[in-house]
Amino acid sequence: MSLSYAEMTCPNCGAKTKESCNTWMYGSPVKTCASCNTEYIDRRWREVAIDGFDPRSSNSGFYLKGLLGFVVFTVVCVLLLFLMSASSGHFPLKLLVAAIGGILGSVFCAYRLFVIKSGIQDKDNAVFMTESKQRLKNSEYVEKLEKYGYKIPDEFKK
Ligand SMILES: [Zn+2]
Repeated sequence: MSLSYAEMTCPNCGAKTKESCNTWMYGSPVKTCASCNTEYIDRRWREVAIDGFDPRSSNSGFYLKGLLGFVVFTVVCVLLLFLMSASSGHFPLKLLVAAIGGILGSVFCAYRLFVIKSGIQDKDNAVFMTESKQRLKNSEYVEKLEKYGYKIPDEFKK
């Protein structure tokens, strides 16, 4: 699942690297610059066996509120659209754009809700957790994270 890209800037030479990432940036925070070979840490990435999952990712209440908000917004826009075009004969384009935005927002929230409620999220998370634990089996990698200031859970310490 690589839906988006993260851009990282090397602290040594300033070169920018793009890397495909999942929605929540689950993965190793240890990066190596392709230009100068410097290793650095990018804290935006979550090593989920240490950092845990992003709390927003499983917050279905948040997306439910979002969905309701967008649906109400869309309905209001569509009603106004009808009222205004009926009374003035004009078709207010801005209102149409707002209504489409409302629909897209609704669809996005509904999709996130579905992913959480259907268990797809949990399955994805299990995969990310397995990958993360796999990385942490490497004691060199664990030492590296510790050096960068990560608090390593006892189960990964040798
Ligand atoms: Zn560099």
